[in-house]
Amino acid sequence: MSLKKSLMILLVTFSIIPFLISIIAYELLTHKSLILIICIVYIIIIAILANYLSNKFIEPIISLRDTMRTASNGNLEVKSSIRSKNELGELSKSFNKMMHIINRNYEDLTSLHNELLSNEEQLRSNYDHIEFLAYHDVLTGLPNKIAFTDYINGVLSSSNKVDKMHAIYFFDLDNFKTINDTLGHEYGDDLLIRTAQILQSIIDGKGLLARAGGDEFLLFYEDIKSVSEAVDLAAQIIKHFQEPIELNNDIVFMSMSIGIAIYPDNGLTPNALIKNSDIAMYKSKDTGKNKYTIFNSMMEEELNRHTLIIDILRSAIENNELYIRYQPLVDLQTNQIIGLEALARIDSEKLGPLSPSEFIPIAEESGLIVKISNWIIREACLFNKKLLDRGITSLVVSVNISSIHLNRPEFIKTISNILDETQLPPNLLELELTESTLVSSVMDAASLLSQLHKLGVKVSLDDFGTGYSSLNYLTRMPINTLKIDKSFIDNISYNDKDAYIANTIIQLAHRLNIKVVAEGVETKEQLELLRQQNCDMIQGHIISKPLLQEEIIDLIQQS
Ligand code: C2E
Ligand code: MG
Ligand code: MG
Repeated sequence: MSLKKSLMILLVTFSIIPFLISIIAYELLTHKSLILIICIVYIIIIAILANYLSNKFIEPIISLRDTMRTASNGNLEVKSSIRSKNELGELSKSFNKMMHIINRNYEDLTSLHNELLSNEEQLRSNYDHIEFLAYHDVLTGLPNKIAFTDYINGVLSSSNKVDKMHAIYFFDLDNFKTINDTLGHEYGDDLLIRTAQILQSIIDGKGLLARAGGDEFLLFYEDIKSVSEAVDLAAQIIKHFQEPIELNNDIVFMSMSIGIAIYPDNGLTPNALIKNSDIAMYKSKDTGKNKYTIFNSMMEEELNRHTLIIDILRSAIENNELYIRYQPLVDLQTNQIIGLEALARIDSEKLGPLSPSEFIPIAEESGLIVKISNWIIREACLFNKKLLDRGITSLVVSVNISSIHLNRPEFIKTISNILDETQLPPNLLELELTESTLVSSVMDAASLLSQLHKLGVKVSLDDFGTGYSSLNYLTRMPINTLKIDKSFIDNISYNDKDAYIANTIIQLAHRLNIKVVAEGVETKEQLELLRQQNCDMIQGHIISKPLLQEEIIDLIQQS
């Protein structure tokens, strides 16, 4: 029943019953007791009716109030259970519907909120990762150069910096490129990781280790008491790396070249210190690797000269600063000039005359040797062809070849092209290779030499006695001539042992059908002894210093 109807009944009941009572009371005025009874009954009825109405209307209101209170306290699952068909029932139904909508929206909002939270978490972890990448090396997990520089900057800008002393180390693995080229990049990566671990274990938290890139590492050793403390750590590292390293079930030996710069003596900023430790590291490389060097200002001057020589080499051909001197080789039986060694020279506008022992290693290191060497081979062949065409003489011209050049895949093709181009008979060209060139040959040296042999080009083994003096090469490879190094020849006239060694080399080479040249012959005594020992040819100041083309022509024509 609707609330409106119930209230109508209540009103009607309350207005009709007093009306009826007043009529009855009027009729039965003499029976007062009856009136009393009627009144009592009326009161009872009213009480029952009031109770009924209160049950019917107030309780659902209270129940609805409690349900709403529960909902307002945050329980969105709550439902009103009023089922009556009056307005309260409708109110309950609408309340439930409203709660359902609120609940659903709340769930949507909750899931949206959770999604936002997880996105935020993802963003935060992405940000952390990006930050890690910006300041770390992915391979080794070490800080990178930026983090390293930042760290030193922080230390140097802190107070009391003037009285403090720090050491910056630059590490560069020796021959890492060869390892990468021969054993593969994955192996190289593993070796870098292992090296980082070993360095960390030696440093033992004493400094900040970083990877500068490639096979280079940096160390900041903070607050040292003396330079010798810095040196001790470097010596310890070098010693540690003398032990074999276990890597992928293999045993490898790895060494490194170290450069050290000391703050504040060798620089006041991270960049200056890193640069100077790098320069010192190069000094370690140049003077035999597997060692440490402390920076000094002379090194910077050397480096500047080195950089300038690279510049000069780059355009030496175009600037006509590169030229050749030829040193004659004389046959000891006929006393005739039978060969010429082409020796490179540079006369630079900026630095004056440069010796090949200075610029050839720089040309090799910078890769410029290939261009320079090709030019020298072509020039030497052209000159020899000119001598031949003019009927002056038929000589073998020899050119020194660096290992970098020999290892170029197109090397044989280049030689063959130059011979075609210059029309020099191949047997009038000889290539001088040293043992170290053959040892460091990544290509199969024996196969390279036999290809040259097939071309008809001669091969000589230069500076014999200074390297491994391995007899292996003489038996396994097609070598025409062996050149005994000047350092052996120097003492032969007064050191019996050297004379004996020279004699043995000559005999041995002859047994193997190899001709022998003695290099750097300066005295008559040396010459006579070599003649007695049946040496085939000599080259040295006793005959002539290296000469220019015209001077060589004059010398040949005079003899
Ligand atoms: P090398 O091939 O052993 O050349 C012989 C060196 O000994 C030359 O020095 C020559 O001038 C010097 N020499 C010859 N006889 C005597 C002597 O009686 N006394 C003294 N004191 N020295 C003598 P140079 O021209 O300074 O060349 C030095 C080295 O530079 C050469 O040694 C060679 O290894 C290298 N080199 C020169 N030119 C070239 C080149 O075009 N390419 C390459 N890859 N290396 C070259
Ligand atoms: Mg030579
Ligand atoms: Mg030599």
